[in-house]
Amino acid sequence: MRYHSTRNKDHFVDSAQAVLEGLAPDGGLYMPEAIPGFDWKQCLAGSSQQMSAMILSALLPDIPDMEQLVQRAYDGKFETEDLTPTVTVGDSTVLELFRGPTSAFKDVALSMLPQLLTAAKAVKGEKEDTLILTATSGDTGKAALVGFRDVPGVRICVFYPDGGVSQVQRAQMVTQEGSNVAVCAVKGNFDDAQTGVKNIFAACQGKRLPFQLSSANSINIGRLAPQVMYYFRAYRNLLDEGKIRLGDKVNYAVPTGNFGDILAGFLAKLLGLPVGMLICASNANNVLTDFIRTGTYDRRRPLLKTTSPSMDILVSSNLERLLYLLSGDTELVAELMGKLNAEGVYTVPDPLKDAIQSQFWASYCDDARASEIMGRVYKEQGYLCDPHTASGFAAAQDYVAATGDHRPMVILSTASPYKFPATVLEAIGGDTSGSEYEQMDRLHEITGIPVPPALAKLRTMPELHTDVIEKSAMLEYVMAL
Ligand SMILES: *Cc1c(COP(=O)(O)O)cnc(C)c1O
Repeated sequence: MRYHSTRNKDHFVDSAQAVLEGLAPDGGLYMPEAIPGFDWKQCLAGSSQQMSAMILSALLPDIPDMEQLVQRAYDGKFETEDLTPTVTVGDSTVLELFRGPTSAFKDVALSMLPQLLTAAKAVKGEKEDTLILTATSGDTGKAALVGFRDVPGVRICVFYPDGGVSQVQRAQMVTQEGSNVAVCAVKGNFDDAQTGVKNIFAACQGKRLPFQLSSANSINIGRLAPQVMYYFRAYRNLLDEGKIRLGDKVNYAVPTGNFGDILAGFLAKLLGLPVGMLICASNANNVLTDFIRTGTYDRRRPLLKTTSPSMDILVSSNLERLLYLLSGDTELVAELMGKLNAEGVYTVPDPLKDAIQSQFWASYCDDARASEIMGRVYKEQGYLCDPHTASGFAAAQDYVAATGDHRPMVILSTASPYKFPATVLEAIGGDTSGSEYEQMDRLHEITGIPVPPALAKLRTMPELHTDVIEKSAMLEYVMAL
């Protein structure tokens, strides 16, 4: 299948090459030339792994043996065989995406990406080692480390801001075992770490190096495509529970940062799944809410630090893919992205705004409301959710209140509450003193909900990666790996 950049229709690669390159040479994102015909009803009939294999074969047809790759990615690594179970909470269905090895929703995609990358290298006869470079504000780093650990022909280096991730998130990364992993703290904030990584990519461009640089971010179609499965899985569970009949539309509320997860929902819809409204949930960094409501994207505002850090983001990379899918106009996309880069703001033409608003709805909630929701959902429904998921509950509520659309609602839950124990404890009226480990224990005592085993054992594991460097030393650090 031919892929091209969202910014240029004339430069083609196949789907294996798109996975290898990650980003297109012109800075655009790779998208298929056309969405393939797809038997979505047959897809719904399978297990989660079969769904994944069928969807990935359709979207990445140049990568062979997909069933085997899926099996290798997921077998025995998730808490449940269906990978992403659903729970009924009041009128809604919560799709729990955090039941993987690092308790982050990124596990589903980052377990699969190494398999896709290795297979794509084989297809392309690419013999060079790959070096995955990632800057993380917490969750991506650990999920990528686990996914790429001991994958032959691949090394991975993760940079995190020194003092800028939670105690548990740091422990998850610095205890990582594996012969091909490096983890390093950078003196600075997340933006410094991310800028440092971008600078390394720029410095290496066109140079002959003993490795090929790549990224584990959702700009890579190989990171995005594995997420399409979630939407099929949730739909199938609603069918099995008799909440819908085949063909009924279902709405999905998605806690959103880089727009990867929700875009996977739109791809599910384009593949035929009866998706109703896609509800984009943000925290106080509500750039996307404003955009979907007005058609103007304006990143010229301060980045706020919230209790849902994985959604603290002002430039949502994958929105570019949506602009392309709904306009089909690569020149327009290139122009808008140029404006975003130069001026920090762009406005889409009215027909494109209308197209977006017919498929997407958006709302946001600040920390206080997220806390109120976590407390209320726990008290009234006995369900404990994390602050990211709380924004999903908020947006779902706002949507129903604004539209009166009472179709079945799936809320995507993107993190375990045990990842943010202090915020969650505070929301349910618990004592927040002590270390994060003590907070986890207390949360467990109060709720009886088991602590994910991989988080529970962290406190006794040896720290293997204790490097801390200046941000100016990142390139040197990578070259010495
Ligand atoms: C990454 C992440 C998100 C945002 O997902 P996108 O695909 O970037 O929109 C939301 N919640 C959590 C917990 C995350 O880790």
